[in-house]
Amino acid sequence: MAEPARFPLPTPEIHVWVAYLTARCNFACDYCIQKPQMVPGQRRKPWGKYTELTGAQWVDALNAFPVRPEHPLILTGGEPSLHKDFAFIASRLDGYALDMTSNLTFDIDAVAREMKAHGKQFVTSFHTYHPKFMAPEKWLDQAERLRDSGLVKAPTFSMVNLERFPHFRDEEHVRNLHQLVQLADRRGLLYQFNEFRGTHMGLPYERTQKYAIECTSAWVNIDPEGNVFNCQYHLTERKRSFGNITAIEACRPLPAMGEFFACTDFGYCDPCHENSGHGAFRDTNGQVFRRTANDARVYLKLMEPAAIRTVAQRYFGQGNYAEAEHALLAAIGKQRDGGKEDGETWADLGVTLYESDKKKQGLAALLHAVDLGITRTEIVASALAVARELGLEAHAKATILRHVPAQILGPIEQALDAVRPLQPAQ
Ligand code: SF4
Ligand code: SF4
Repeated sequence: MAEPARFPLPTPEIHVWVAYLTARCNFACDYCIQKPQMVPGQRRKPWGKYTELTGAQWVDALNAFPVRPEHPLILTGGEPSLHKDFAFIASRLDGYALDMTSNLTFDIDAVAREMKAHGKQFVTSFHTYHPKFMAPEKWLDQAERLRDSGLVKAPTFSMVNLERFPHFRDEEHVRNLHQLVQLADRRGLLYQFNEFRGTHMGLPYERTQKYAIECTSAWVNIDPEGNVFNCQYHLTERKRSFGNITAIEACRPLPAMGEFFACTDFGYCDPCHENSGHGAFRDTNGQVFRRTANDARVYLKLMEPAAIRTVAQRYFGQGNYAEAEHALLAAIGKQRDGGKEDGETWADLGVTLYESDKKKQGLAALLHAVDLGITRTEIVASALAVARELGLEAHAKATILRHVPAQILGPIEQALDAVRPLQPAQ
């Protein structure tokens, strides 16, 4: 007698099954990992348009699977609650330990009522605050409502940790996040900070070249049309589908948990690959690895000089002068490539180098800024003060006087005389 065909989806409990109910989102975060190749400052939505399965199609297909017992299943997107039948799907699925990711913009009471009416509850859920798209008070209200609604047994509230990535935050982001943390602490909402994942993690995610490699991932990714993929990249590119959940008997078996399989798309992987904790790569030498780098500087390559300068100012504000210097040099390099030098960037570099105790280079940068027409009092005064510290006042004055009249330089010198010595010489 022929063996019955094995169910094509891996079923160990730790295998991550994900139903992407929709690829739509009402937010557009520049650090969204639902779409590869994030560019700082560039708002974008998740990855594409689909003819979405209806609620009945999702439920009929998934409820027919021989899941054992209570297989974990994440409802996600995009923003899954944008699916017109979100509450129907969540409340009619049977045999799943449900998890959801959501930005908390949905009608929590309505979904909670529907779930309760069908004796259902999410086991876990994951909600990240996105500071550019929701006021802190509103998100906190929603988080508390969800926590107290009974809709989820153990919800997790979180924020993306962008401390090392000023490329992806601006004043509004920082202000809202700060306010949220204060409010949450005051109101007793527990939250966590998540690692930010992206291109900075190295070669697998760089998207410059494709390589042949072996890969293992622990994903069953189902796209909004029901197609099944083993990883996020293949899902978003609609490439190498194993089949469709509405015709599961025709689906090819997915690799089992921990099984390495050949892939020629390495280099275009999505950082989501890391999320399960089980994803790994194996190179031609048999070396098993995950990420290959952790280099925040990679984002500067994608940014315009003015935006890089702003990033440098944020690093400077954090007291991270080494990264500020690197960013400013990157901006200056790009400006030069574009045939246009910017004195303000040189002035920033001068101040940054000074703070890093590279005083001679700092003076040179400040004087170059003056040469490029930056003759504001504080820049001229800074250049002169540093020059005095270094015993190079005559040299500095010669440069400054080419751009600043003596009757303006005079009062600046007098002001410096009044506070001399600015810093003890070293
Ligand atoms: S809310 Fe989530 S899915 Fe939507 S754009 Fe932001 S990070 Fe992406
Ligand atoms: S190597 Fe990358 S693109 Fe290929 S299957 Fe693995 S995660 Fe997906």
